[in-house]
Amino acid sequence: MIKLEPLKCPKCGSVLKSQQKDLVYRCENCGTFVYAPTMEVLNAKIYRFDTNRHDKKYYMPFFVYRVEYFIRREVSKHARDIYNQRGSWIAYIPAGGSLPAHETLRIAKLITSRPPQNVVETVDFEGIPNLPVEITVEEGERMSEFLFLSYEVDKPGILQSIAYTFTAKFIELIYLPFYYRGYYYPGLVQYGGEGV
Ligand SMILES: [Zn+2]
Repeated sequence: MIKLEPLKCPKCGSVLKSQQKDLVYRCENCGTFVYAPTMEVLNAKIYRFDTNRHDKKYYMPFFVYRVEYFIRREVSKHARDIYNQRGSWIAYIPAGGSLPAHETLRIAKLITSRPPQNVVETVDFEGIPNLPVEITVEEGERMSEFLFLSYEVDKPGILQSIAYTFTAKFIELIYLPFYYRGYYYPGLVQYGGEGV
């Protein structure tokens, strides 16, 4: 006979209540974030709103990665070829909210191009709903690579071929404040608070 054990917090042992379709559990007792596919404790942060608009508030989860790339050769029309260029940056990948692909890319670019600064951390969602995490860490890695390629496509010239290596290493989960009014925009002063 198979006995089903309730899922327990790896830190304090409390029973975890599963949220529908959220790949991350939050322990109601100790606040630990647990990644459901592996039951590992996640390093997670919540950044507080610093704007006050009348639109509906949400916390949007982001997987944060350290990206490293090496472009062996990149050929573009109307631009100089690139050889042996190495680089590194931090990618912010929206991990939930059932966003359409173009919205995921727009928000990923918005936050990755100007990472959050002067943020205030809060230990709690403070009654504001958080969007569920709907992608795995591996899916986020692939989205980081797609983001990298879209940045290369955005550069001057018309990209014709690129030979590269790419790695994305997961760092942490960050919940960023967002408003919704037909589309999502960040609730942080540095993004203007009025969408893009
Ligand atoms: Zn716990």
